[in-house]
Amino acid sequence: MSTSDRPLIQLTNVHKTFNTAAGQYNALKGINLTFSQGEFTSIMGKSGSGKSTLLNMVTGIDHPTSGVVRIGDEELHRMNESQMAVWRGRNLGIVFQFFQLLPTLTILENTLLPMDYGNIYPPAEREPRALELLRMLDLSDMADKLPAALSGGQQQIAAIARSLANDPPILVADEPTGNLDSRTAERVLDIFNQLALQGKTILIVTHDSSLARRSTRRVLICDGELVNEHIAHALPSLSHVQLLKLTKLMTPRRYETGVTVARQGALDAGLFVLTGGRVDILRQGEAKSLSLITTLLPGQYFSNLELLETELCDLTFRVTSDGPVDILCLPLAQFDQWLVENPSAENALRRSAAERSGFYCPQPRARPQEPRVAPFLATSYQDPLQQEG
Ligand code: ADP
Ligand code: MG
Repeated sequence: MSTSDRPLIQLTNVHKTFNTAAGQYNALKGINLTFSQGEFTSIMGKSGSGKSTLLNMVTGIDHPTSGVVRIGDEELHRMNESQMAVWRGRNLGIVFQFFQLLPTLTILENTLLPMDYGNIYPPAEREPRALELLRMLDLSDMADKLPAALSGGQQQIAAIARSLANDPPILVADEPTGNLDSRTAERVLDIFNQLALQGKTILIVTHDSSLARRSTRRVLICDGELVNEHIAHALPSLSHVQLLKLTKLMTPRRYETGVTVARQGALDAGLFVLTGGRVDILRQGEAKSLSLITTLLPGQYFSNLELLETELCDLTFRVTSDGPVDILCLPLAQFDQWLVENPSAENALRRSAAERSGFYCPQPRARPQEPRVAPFLATSYQDPLQQEG
């Protein structure tokens, strides 16, 4: 694997077209995506959106119709099948939804199998290493049992042990918790978290937004295209299709230190999503003094709907003193048009604008009893996948 500071995994303009009875089907439509070493990413999206196809591009189980997948120093399409098998055995641990342990081998033998294929560790080291992996995953007691004697959760954890047999730098798992109860699923996520902390790069597909929250990064795919991660994070109440549309409509702008991005009655975009840097929200107080309400961070948004809601309290959105900000913007006219075309999104954004207005411009006499939490600073990420089902 490369030791340079390039991303470990890089997909460049990856397309995948399947020939089906009904004609050609574009399952991936120009994916550009990178993963750094040690990143723990959840890939989310509705059923049929292209998640497994995307993972199969990374594992080399399937090939792009066009585009390039590079992992470390290798461009996967340059390898033939046998080179690929060797490379995969050394570099990838793969975990599937259905645990795929060999039923006639014990848990220990299942864990040894990739070591025997991979031939990386000397034979004498293999069994101690397999036992150590099982110990690490609390499966020592099960080493001599056949898979059928284990619960589903234990089998999945054994499958993780097996995927780690050759100490691969990358772990890829397609819905690894799909058949597990929620406690075991949490345990599996704990294990992935630990492995990421040890420097492994982990990609999992999951339908479960509460599990996805445990990863360090979430990638949302919709109809074979990626949703901008900051937009998905900022606007979790929108549908995947609406988020994808915004991804295509919004354009990046950079604002320098101290610049006013927008203020009441003077803004040239309708929707702003921060992708880098910080923006202060200030309120005009008495004697023209500005008081700080809060600071917006990447993955947060504001819109002119909030400025309409808070007309009387004169808000200013200004780049903080610690550097320029990058913002995805949707011009006012386009934002208005988009709202007309997406009434459900308009309702959601208006509701949240009304909620935020109470935070921006608290009414002294109607102050609520409990401490107020900024509606856009909620610590738990509410995932758009909650729409799944
Ligand atoms: P997900 O994992 O998100 O549920 P997939 O990546 O499995 O979705 O599939 C994405 C789309 O591509 C689906 O519409 C699926 O029917 C289609 N697809 C996947 N594999 C094939 C294949 N081998 N042949 C034809 N169509 C396929
Ligand atoms: Mg799938």
